[in-house]
Amino acid sequence: MELFDVVVVGGGPAGATAAHELAQTGRKVLLLDKAGRIKPCGGAVPPQLLKDFDVPEELMVARIDTARMISPKSKKVDIPVGQGFVGMVDRDVFDEWLRARAVSAGAERRTGSFTSMQRDDDGVQIVTYTDGRSRTGDTMQIKAKMVIGCDGALSAVARAAIPGADRMKHVFAYHEIVASPTEDSEAFGKNRCDVYYQGPLSPDFYAWVFPHGKTTSIGTGSLQQGFKLRSAVAALRESTGLAGVETLRREGAPIPLEPLKRWDNGRDVIVGGDAAGTVAPASGEGIYYAMTSGRYVAQAVGVALLTGNPLWLRTARRRFMSDHGQVFRVLGIMQRFWYSNDNRRERFVAICEDRDVQELTFDGYMNKRLVKAKPLSHARIFFKNLAHLTGLAPA
Ligand SMILES: Cc1cc2nc3c(=O)[nH]c(=O)nc-3n(C[C@H](O)[C@H](O)[C@H](O)COP(=O)(O)OP(=O)(O)OC[C@H]3O[C@@H](n4cnc5c(N)ncnc54)[C@H](O)[C@@H]3O)c2cc1C
Repeated sequence: MELFDVVVVGGGPAGATAAHELAQTGRKVLLLDKAGRIKPCGGAVPPQLLKDFDVPEELMVARIDTARMISPKSKKVDIPVGQGFVGMVDRDVFDEWLRARAVSAGAERRTGSFTSMQRDDDGVQIVTYTDGRSRTGDTMQIKAKMVIGCDGALSAVARAAIPGADRMKHVFAYHEIVASPTEDSEAFGKNRCDVYYQGPLSPDFYAWVFPHGKTTSIGTGSLQQGFKLRSAVAALRESTGLAGVETLRREGAPIPLEPLKRWDNGRDVIVGGDAAGTVAPASGEGIYYAMTSGRYVAQAVGVALLTGNPLWLRTARRRFMSDHGQVFRVLGIMQRFWYSNDNRRERFVAICEDRDVQELTFDGYMNKRLVKAKPLSHARIFFKNLAHLTGLAPA
């Protein structure tokens, strides 16, 4: 049985990044991916992603310069993106590019579906998977010193090895990919993201229209089991005049709500990306965080292999939470409070009209850190928030 230093399960942004990082250091890496399905995703990424992960701008199919927030009473607040832009990627092309980069750094790629793990007599992990190329679905086995699970939300690797992974909270999201309208209108702008904060479209998250050049993603998400996501998207398309445009794909997937308390099994398995729950609450942004966690996981695995000490695996989660935990906590509170009913959503959109809030939000999104240099605007936002929370400010 062939022995790899590392088997990475899942070739999305997290897994492809982890495989790339480890292959670059000369490790014998296998990237195992199911393949055959385009990840359902709005595809919005911050420019910081291009910088941090050396991704070429050509992969962006649209550059968004305005985010429009739409309240329950249809009040519209346009937030200019400022100096930068929000990039839009098509996940079939983007993910494939990342996987190809991992291969060019030396990772071996196989198409197959992870099914289980067990140890041999020496305690080494035997990874079993179904061969994706064989028509009969042959069972294959390989050995791995370390296994990295980046197989997405509700990860099979996490559920097999990480305590608590089976109880991960998630939003269920659904979107339709449609042919983009040829002309801009009040309901559609080719360089504008529209975000709908309206109870009938989502009782606890938001609905969206994200343009991707020739195609557009129209979707919604909710924590509520039984909420009719398809009907909500149909209603959104109807009310925006986008019901008549051609539908190219309909697809859905879970979005995790918070990072797992543990990412590793203390020995030889660790998870990253959606498998570890690294999606920002309130926004549902996961691509940048998947790649960041994939990188941290790869670096932790590299040191654990070098030193023979699996305690190093813990550093991946610790680093991630130290960099992004505060933002995730603030966004979590925001989602729980502001997204809970239409009255609050109305006030939330009103708050977004404020220039201080706009600057802070976009600085945070663009640079992936809370801006500490502006104490005065923090104080102003605090008092404005207070006025809205106590109902002193008009909605
Ligand atoms: C509808 C929707 C809209 C979204 N919009 C945005 C957005 O606009 N911006 C943003 O930043 N984030 C968005 N997200 C979140 C984002 O898509 C995820 O956070 C991101 O894809 C996570 O990357 P990942 O590599 O961890 O997992 P994934 O992208 O899910 O990749 C997992 C990979 O593992 C493979 N796999 C799964 N099971 C197995 C197995 N058993 N064996 C082998 N391979 C396996 C899959 O084929 C896949 O390639 C959205 C999510 C949804 C559902």
